[in-house]
Amino acid sequence: MPRPRKLEEPDTDTPGDLCSRCGMCCNGTLYNYVTLRSQEEVDALLKYDPAIPIITRSEQPTFDEPCRLHDGTGCTAYRDRPDTCSRYTCELLRAVDRDEVTDVEARLIIEEARALVENVREYVELEPGRPLAVSTWLSLPGSATPEARQAWERALLHLRRHFLGPDPDAPKVDAAAAIATGD
Ligand code: SF4
Ligand code: SF4
Repeated sequence: MPRPRKLEEPDTDTPGDLCSRCGMCCNGTLYNYVTLRSQEEVDALLKYDPAIPIITRSEQPTFDEPCRLHDGTGCTAYRDRPDTCSRYTCELLRAVDRDEVTDVEARLIIEEARALVENVREYVELEPGRPLAVSTWLSLPGSATPEARQAWERALLHLRRHFLGPDPDAPKVDAAAAIATGD
């Protein structure tokens, strides 16, 4: 998961600053859940919020997104965030690191992503609390209207292209794969 903004970081054009405008790898847009690596990570997380449900998947502890520790702009457990989170970097930040995308372009890409996701929500009714994650999106309800399908596909294309890579099911980096598959 994310490399969300360290809350005390200055407001500069750092990757953390971009993350504070995004949050999509914490808020259930890109992933359904986060895998924890050890009981120590579970304990550390529960110190911040004892009510976080820990769910075992593939014999590993996980917790669902949207993450309750994301405050809308950053991780409130930044210093103790799980290894899966601290090691994660999305495709957009990688492109910025490689100087293939400027900070301004990255901000626009994030804004467009957020708008496209909101557009999907206007057309597709999801169960309350159900994360709007890409893995969920792959099963668009059969009753979806053409408008809903179009909004869905536009958003998915954008998120795949700029954040997940062309195939969201293909492991990109350890942490991202772990989040997506529970490995
Ligand atoms: S998806 Fe990328 S830009 Fe957005 S918060 Fe996560 S790491 Fe940051
Ligand atoms: S623990 Fe922090 S970094 Fe990890 S999903 Fe939650 S808010 Fe994001």
